[in-house]
Amino acid sequence: SWGSFTDKATYDWSSEEEEPDGRARPIQVLVVKDDHTFELDEAALSRILLAEEVHNREVVAISVAGAFRKGKSFLMDFMLRYMYSQASEEWLGEAEEPLTGFSWRGGSERETTGIQIWSEVFLVDKPDGRKVAVLLMDTQGTFDSQSTLRDSATVFALSTMISSMQLFTEYGRLAMEETFLKPFQSMIFLVRDWSFPYEFGYGQEGGMKFLEKRLKISENQHEELQNVRKHIHSCFTNISCFLMPHPGLKVATNPNFDGRLKEIDREFINNLQILVPWLLSPKNLDVKEINGSNITCRGLLEYFKAYIKIYQG
Ligand code: GDP
Ligand code: MG
Repeated sequence: SWGSFTDKATYDWSSEEEEPDGRARPIQVLVVKDDHTFELDEAALSRILLAEEVHNREVVAISVAGAFRKGKSFLMDFMLRYMYSQASEEWLGEAEEPLTGFSWRGGSERETTGIQIWSEVFLVDKPDGRKVAVLLMDTQGTFDSQSTLRDSATVFALSTMISSMQLFTEYGRLAMEETFLKPFQSMIFLVRDWSFPYEFGYGQEGGMKFLEKRLKISENQHEELQNVRKHIHSCFTNISCFLMPHPGLKVATNPNFDGRLKEIDREFINNLQILVPWLLSPKNLDVKEINGSNITCRGLLEYFKAYIKIYQG
């Protein structure tokens, strides 16, 4: 029963890389520059991953990947609420509370292809007694030209390699042709603004059926598309899909919308209440594995550096 939340967990969190006012924030750790080279902010990444409380902890690395304006920050802010509310039943918050977190910098945010990490690493007690470190990553790319497509593919490949669970957001369709995939743990396609619930219902079950249909390999498909599908199957241990309803016009179009629940469609909130605990409840947090070994925060830093070198050539 993936939707039900039964575990009791204590979240406490470290407070590295805080703003002077004490607020945690997204830290840009990887930037794709105008000349298409990659720059890793090793110092910033080290401050986060080598913090005293977390460096030796096994890491659960969760990334949300997708193009700009696909609602990643919006979703991640709800994920943060869940983490900060210690997974309590009331994690969703008050009806008129503005949403904060990744969207903190609002409209002035520069559109940078790369990877951002939430400056606080959360420590979570799993039901089996292990305390793990949970890292949230925002991975963004652009798809507006051949060269940026290549940059984005590299960014997504990197984030796939370093995460234990990756969510890929896409509005109303699945454009898997555009992603470059490398082996590893869980891939979840999050299809937003799903408008055919009578065909495939919202949530994970409808998502799986939809995904099966989309991943089916058929004779009359272009060979390249057939290969993408075969590749996806061979690359991930777990592949799933979640169909989210449209959040409503205020979310999609009102420039003054501040994320308050009151202005979000009920159906969307209901599904958010299923999606977020499904992703983040302590029992569902999978530690990052590489070649069968569990990775710590310190180990992840090393892999990050090594993978970057591969792409830098
Ligand atoms: P990001 O660039 O991927 O981080 O996107 P944001 O989270 O900043 O969201 C971009 C815009 O899409 C904002 O105006 C959000 O209010 C809106 N938005 C967020 N989630 C959804 C969704 O599921 N559907 C639609 N249509 N809009 C959304
Ligand atoms: Mg964003």
